[in-house]
Amino acid sequence: MKIALIGYGKMGRAIEKIATDRGHSIILKVDAENLQEINEVKPDKCDVAIEFTSPDVAYDNIIKILSQDVPLVTGTTGWLDRLDEVKSLCKEQQGAFFYASNFSIGANIFFQMSEQLARLMNKTDYTVSMKETHHTEKKDSPSGTAITLAEGIISNIDRLEGWKEGTGNDSSELSISAFREPGVPGTHEINYNSEQDEIKIKHTAHSRDGFALGAVMAAEWLQGKKGTFTMKDMLV
Ligand code: NAD
Repeated sequence: MKIALIGYGKMGRAIEKIATDRGHSIILKVDAENLQEINEVKPDKCDVAIEFTSPDVAYDNIIKILSQDVPLVTGTTGWLDRLDEVKSLCKEQQGAFFYASNFSIGANIFFQMSEQLARLMNKTDYTVSMKETHHTEKKDSPSGTAITLAEGIISNIDRLEGWKEGTGNDSSELSISAFREPGVPGTHEINYNSEQDEIKIKHTAHSRDGFALGAVMAAEWLQGKKGTFTMKDMLV
C-alpha cells in the first residue's frame, strides 16, 4: 500500500517502521511544518492515510481527508464527541473510515474481558473504579482507552449512570483516576472492591509497537471497504 502519514510524532514514526517492515511505502508525511501538504493526499497518490495527531486538530484533518476521497485510519483520541458528524460525512461521501481509541490487539481483548467481568458484576454491590497512567506529553485526560473501557462497563452495570474523573463516594458513577509519568506508553487498571474482597484486571502496554501494528493492520483491512469501522469489526 502507498500510505500518507498525517502526524509524524511518536506514533507516526512507530507506524512508519512497522508499515515499511510489512512491505508498504510511506509516500507523504504531513506534520506541523508542512501542514498544507495535506492537500496532496489524493486517491491517485495514496491508498490510505493514517492520522495520529492531536485532539484539537483531528476532526479537521478527518473531514479534509474524507472529502479528498482517501480511506482513513485515525488513532487520535479526544475528539469522539464529533464522531456522529464524521460518520454522516463518511456515508455521504461513500468513504472508508476506521477509528479506535486503542489499536493494540491485547487492549482489545482486555475490552472484551472487562465487559464480561462487568456483566458478572451487575447484580453485586462491588464499587468499580479505574486508574490509567500515561506519559507526561499526553494531552487528553482521561485517556480515550479509559473512556472506551468506562462505556463498556457502564453499559453492562445497571447501577452505574456515568463516569467522572477523580475519586469519590458516589456509587452511581465510575471514578477514573488519571496519572502522568515519564515514558509510560499506557496502563489501565480496573478495580472492583467490596467489604469482603477485591478483584483487579490490568493491561500494560510495553511500547507503542502494539498500537502501530494494529493501525497498519487496520489500513490493510480497510482496502476496498466503504463505511465507518472500528476494532470490533476487524477482530470479530
Ligand atoms: P505526538 O505529540 O508525539 O505526535 C503528534 C504529531 O502531530 C506531532 O509531531 C505534531 O507536530 C503533529 N501535528 C500537530 N498538528 C498537526 C496537524 N494539524 N496536521 C498534521 N500533524 C500535526 O503524539 P503521539 O504519541 O504520536 O500521539 C498522537 C495521538 O494518538 C494522541 O491523541 C494520542 O493520544 C493518540 N494515541 C492513540 C493510540 C491508539 O491506539 N489509538 C495509541 C497511542 C497514541
